[in-house]
Amino acid sequence: KKKLVEVKNLTKAFTVGKGLSLKAADNVSFDIYEGETFGLVGESGCGKSTTGRTIIGLYQPSGGEVLFDGQNVHKASSHERSKLTKNMQMIFQDPYASLNPRMNIAEIISEGLQLNGLYKGKAERMKRVVELLEMVGLNKEHANRFPHEFSGGQRQRIGIARALAVNPRFVIADEPISALDVSVQAQVVNLMKNLQREQNLTYLFIAHDLAMVKHISDRIGVMYLGNLVEMTDSEKLYESPKHPYTQALLSAIPVPDPDLEKSRERQIIEGDVPSPINPPSGCVFRTRCPVAKEVCAQKKPDWQEIEPGHFAACHLYS
Ligand code: SF4
Ligand code: MG
Repeated sequence: KKKLVEVKNLTKAFTVGKGLSLKAADNVSFDIYEGETFGLVGESGCGKSTTGRTIIGLYQPSGGEVLFDGQNVHKASSHERSKLTKNMQMIFQDPYASLNPRMNIAEIISEGLQLNGLYKGKAERMKRVVELLEMVGLNKEHANRFPHEFSGGQRQRIGIARALAVNPRFVIADEPISALDVSVQAQVVNLMKNLQREQNLTYLFIAHDLAMVKHISDRIGVMYLGNLVEMTDSEKLYESPKHPYTQALLSAIPVPDPDLEKSRERQIIEGDVPSPINPPSGCVFRTRCPVAKEVCAQKKPDWQEIEPGHFAACHLYS
């Protein structure tokens, strides 16, 4: 399998006044293979959106690098940069906030075409818009309407059409279903899966809980307080999570079978996420970890491969 995106020791720090610095992403490393969906999961504020935005080039990293198809995203020349932008697109959490209310759907979807000099000429562009609308389950009747005339799920379909307009190879979806009704979430996930197959897309799918990425991810990375704490194949992660934080996240997902649900032990993660401005010494999860040892306060656990393809940062495995 070919690596399409390589994230190497990526660190992104923000200055938050008075010389204080906040490490939103701390030495994060993972690869995304062509054609797969990599799920990135963690509670809000854990750095997953910052990681996504840095990968796509919206932020300059404080350390480390990102390669797209072998090319450094942040050191690209302006010509290379425009090619990268065309190949890396983004779908946002709140489709309403990300759609200009004064533009109609055709204008919204074709904006990127004009910026990238694709499908020149009005007739050709309109043909492309209709093709995209149909691709996401809408039709040409929708082209002249405005964002407020659509439901949340339809707006997210428009956001997807806009992202796919320029034929990207890689799409970052930042919590694309979190704001939608539960009944609509599965439809959008299924649409994204179908489009992935038809258009040979590679996804980074960001979500705040493991239930949301289950049906779309091939591999999953779990983040906590700016750190990647576990990463492996999707199935493995659900079957035998290694990191205490992943275990706690998984036990918080309700299971559909009521008998199984009763017999299960729910593990509640105690306490709040510490401030990223002043993270705990040693392991970032130690203030909430039910099995923390003395060493956990003294030494930051190494990121290590516990089983082939299964990585975690936890002293239980060193
Ligand atoms: Fe818990 Fe220690 Fe592992 Fe951190 S390193 S998750 S505190 S056991
Ligand atoms: Mg976010």
